[in-house]
Amino acid sequence: MGGLNVLRRNSVELLSGAQREVYILGVRVDNVTYEEMLACLDDFVVSGKPHQVATINPEFVMAARHDPEFRAILNTAALCLPDGVGLLWAGCILGCPLRQRVTGSDGIWRIAELAARRGYRLFLLGAAPGVAEEAARRLCDRYPKLIIAGTYAGSPAVEEEDAIVERVRAARADILLVAYGHPRQEKWLARNLARSGAAVGMGVGGALDFVAGVAVRAPRWMRRLGLEWLYRLWREPWRWRRMLALPQFAGLVLWARLTSKRTNMER
Ligand code: UDP
Repeated sequence: MGGLNVLRRNSVELLSGAQREVYILGVRVDNVTYEEMLACLDDFVVSGKPHQVATINPEFVMAARHDPEFRAILNTAALCLPDGVGLLWAGCILGCPLRQRVTGSDGIWRIAELAARRGYRLFLLGAAPGVAEEAARRLCDRYPKLIIAGTYAGSPAVEEEDAIVERVRAARADILLVAYGHPRQEKWLARNLARSGAAVGMGVGGALDFVAGVAVRAPRWMRRLGLEWLYRLWREPWRWRRMLALPQFAGLVLWARLTSKRTNMER
């Protein structure tokens, strides 16, 4: 897997001019749009080789600061999507603006559309029992040609890995979406994607919950104002402790700006 491969480089050439990747507090974020993400995923599947995709938000960045294994996985992933609005803010503050927010929750619909159009087989792994099945049903309702290779809740426990990998392999999945929350889903993919036979392995966090309707996304106006995190905190107040990472992230970005620690941004 590791780093940018030739295919990805070709896909991301679409970027023309804009900085292709930025480092925010030491974590790589690729400056791609939805269209470019889809072009990359298409290339990845055609290559047949394993490519890990991550949906980065400020919580990821803060977790990666204290978890070198997680940081290494993100920084060597084939594609790191700018999922959180906080990253766009940080990019502006640090003088490296990202062009678009590319989320797992919206991206999953577009990936389903790509898979349906190109005949790629999609496997949905993770979330609570029944959620992946319901998500698959809704995706197929919208894209009737979509091939669902399989769905399975499973668990990120190491003891279950071999059986889950066998399931994904037997299903001949091209694209494997994993919803075990970060950093577990990224670590699970780093250990298992290559042997699963899937060409794309992407951590999607709560996206299956949203697609299945067991979690509700913020209204459009809140999303437009970059307040999705606030809505999520209101709906799922148990997240408050995790979300303490957000003001810490903001403080570190401002500090980096003040002290002009641009080494974090570019290599
Ligand atoms: N999850 C799971 N097994 C676990 C832990 C989490 O299936 O052992 C699922 C959970 O049901 C949810 C998703 O992983 O669907 C985590 O969503 P969250 O939005 O918390 O993801 P994060 O923001 O951590 O990436």
